Amino acid sequence: MDLSVIIPCYNEEESLHELYKRVLATCKKADVKTYEIILINDGSDDKTLSIMKEMSAKDKKLVIVDLSRNHGHQIALSAGLSQATGNHVFILDADLQDPPELLHPMLERARAGIDVVYGKRAVRKGETWFKLFASKAFYKTLSYLSDIKIPENVGDFRLISKRVHEQLQAMPEQHRFIRGMISWIGYEQEAFLYERDARFAGVTKYSFTKLMQFSIDAISSFSIRPLRISLVFALLGALLAMLLGSYAIYSYIFKDTISGWTSLATIITFFSSLQLICIGVIGEYIGRTYIQTKERPLYIIRQIYKTSGKK
Ligand code: UDP
Ligand code: MG
Repeated sequence: MDLSVIIPCYNEEESLHELYKRVLATCKKADVKTYEIILINDGSDDKTLSIMKEMSAKDKKLVIVDLSRNHGHQIALSAGLSQATGNHVFILDADLQDPPELLHPMLERARAGIDVVYGKRAVRKGETWFKLFASKAFYKTLSYLSDIKIPENVGDFRLISKRVHEQLQAMPEQHRFIRGMISWIGYEQEAFLYERDARFAGVTKYSFTKLMQFSIDAISSFSIRPLRISLVFALLGALLAMLLGSYAIYSYIFKDTISGWTSLATIITFFSSLQLICIGVIGEYIGRTYIQTKERPLYIIRQIYKTSGKK
């Protein structure tokens, strides 16, 4: 199989026909001999599934993956990835915000040896200022908190090679932030600038809660720094406690203080900073356990060179 196209769909009944038409046309034009189009129905409660079934009855290249309920975009995408068999995998949204026609130029880059050709939005049409602002704030926080570089203004719209796809399949983590995981994998990755269109039909399927969940998954999958921050607070707290304690003792000796205040103030500041330090230390261990339980491969070897011959 030359190419797998993966499209997660949640209540996209209005877009499906147009989507299918454009994806099919672009696959034909892109000079790929064998390809499959994998549509994932992520627990839609409109006619999405029945339209998919109708379409697949007429076309053997369509693969429909019907999930048991709405699992969310990233999980739907993972389900599609687990079924893909192509040498290249093309991921796009069902709402036609990412033009399928870009397959051809993206494939050219891929054929030139680029493993991940990721769409980077030069222009984003039809998005609210709130979404643009939230997205900017999110990527700033993410790049501060995490150890690897995750490019800004980039979604899951991309073309990936077989070896990247295989590595992705070898990452069994539960909370999935796929674009970050692909960044983490490495190899040759390149941005492809494009104009992001407005939705073809319907409204965004990312509710505010889903967006929050997505951001928390992203930050916590790539960093244990938030846990470490409690240690920083603890040390600051300890410093403050020392200052407060000395002030309390100073007041006891040189000023008229209410009896009991000095001892109370020093005890409270001392023990609360002690607690913060302990929480910080526990956080450090929890962080390590967390990283370990993800069971990611330690590293990915690009290639091993060996010259055979007599020694
Ligand atoms: N989607 C999904 N499950 C969800 C939410 C979204 O499969 O729970 C799909 C949706 O059908 C679309 C893609 O994920 O194909 C991106 O969603 P959307 O266009 O609503 O997000 P936005 O472009 O507004 O960020
Ligand atoms: Mg969209």
